[in-house]
Amino acid sequence: MKQMTVRAAIMLAVAGLFVAGIAIFVVIYTVDADDWALYPANRHIYTDGQITQAGQITDRNGTVLAQTQNGQRVYNEDQQIREATLHAVGDLDGFISTGLHASYLKELTGYNLVNGVYSYSGNGNNIQTTLDADVCAAALDALDGKNGTVGVYNYKTGEVICMVSTPTYDVEDEQASEAAKNGDYKGVFVNRFLSGDYTPGSTFKIVTTAASLDTFSDAYDREYTCNGGVMIDGEWISCMGDHGTIRLEEALAKSCNAYFSQLAVDLGEEVMTEYAEKFGFNQSFSMDGIAAKTSYFNVEDTRDIDLAWAGMGQYTNMMNPLQYLTAIGAIANGGVPVEPYMVDKITTNGGLTVKNGKGSNGSRMLSAETAEKLTELMANNVEVNYGTWNYPGLDLCAKSGTAEVGEGRTPNAVFVGFLRNEDLPLAFVVVVEGGGAGSSVGGRVANQVLQAAKDKLT
Ligand SMILES: [Zn+2]
Repeated sequence: MKQMTVRAAIMLAVAGLFVAGIAIFVVIYTVDADDWALYPANRHIYTDGQITQAGQITDRNGTVLAQTQNGQRVYNEDQQIREATLHAVGDLDGFISTGLHASYLKELTGYNLVNGVYSYSGNGNNIQTTLDADVCAAALDALDGKNGTVGVYNYKTGEVICMVSTPTYDVEDEQASEAAKNGDYKGVFVNRFLSGDYTPGSTFKIVTTAASLDTFSDAYDREYTCNGGVMIDGEWISCMGDHGTIRLEEALAKSCNAYFSQLAVDLGEEVMTEYAEKFGFNQSFSMDGIAAKTSYFNVEDTRDIDLAWAGMGQYTNMMNPLQYLTAIGAIANGGVPVEPYMVDKITTNGGLTVKNGKGSNGSRMLSAETAEKLTELMANNVEVNYGTWNYPGLDLCAKSGTAEVGEGRTPNAVFVGFLRNEDLPLAFVVVVEGGGAGSSVGGRVANQVLQAAKDKLT
């Protein structure tokens, strides 16, 4: 009898271990199964470590950006489009981690937990993006061989029309692909729009202006004196002009450093931080579930001279283009940001829609009144400084920045803004690394891209 009890106990223990083992297996299988199935050694998806079997990726008009044909992954037939959309689509090896080939691998291969990758009929799911291939190509052309990024989106719907990052390369050129893998094009696998950050330069004066409008009842009439610059903390901040006594509207249009440095000091570190964070600095952003680099603003316990530089978009300020575009879009959209998205529709080979993209509203960034005032001021910048004639047919509101990036280096040209055209509600961010003057170089790129968008979308 006693022996029976011992045996029963052993059996029970064994059974218990068995159940526990199954439980652990199920958990691991559920958590890791996709990694196993999508591991590059799986020949059903990859050949020689490269993605082959996957669904189509198209632009908003159905233009194919990448697809699988006869077991080969092929891109758009136009080299300019291939290079312009590379960072959105991704390379074949998954080095561009934010590209759809890497970040939407599961969806593209039609992977699911029950059937693994063996179930799909043909090549998995298709992804239609919100991008316009021709507008992306126009942006690449406008960047003219310089490194940088261009992002354009519909600030009412959230659709990203253009997302281009340079340097880029032609994935169908074997030599170029090898060179990219060898690190010959520095930072080529980074999508600067999502993963980059830049000194905002004078475009940040928009943030300082917003803070002033909400903080000082006499914001428009507040005067500061520019003597070709201003002395703060015993350090000279020089200005591009000698503007004399000047007020907000003129100071923004002329981008007077003396005005904005004194204004930032008067606003103080708390208000400046509050407004930078309202605009999305120090906040996490993502697009289609892909995390972006966080923008940076920190003036805690700094001297006035540092606060002055921060108020003009220098000091340690860093903006991420996705975050910046969202903030600019919020001004255009009456103070409420619409989150940008690029994955518009995921459909099975049978045509069944699995997922629909949508740009959801973020929480209010600015009052409708402040957004309207900023809009008027940014429209005035174009009228009196950038030149309406440079932007034919576009009702443009903008701010330029010539962002200092270190001694002896040509500044980055930054240009941000939006259109008030009813039928073309687009916001944009342009960065040309080493481009020089924000308004002329950045403005030219913006116009070229926006004209292409106007041709395609209206
Ligand atoms: Zn000045």
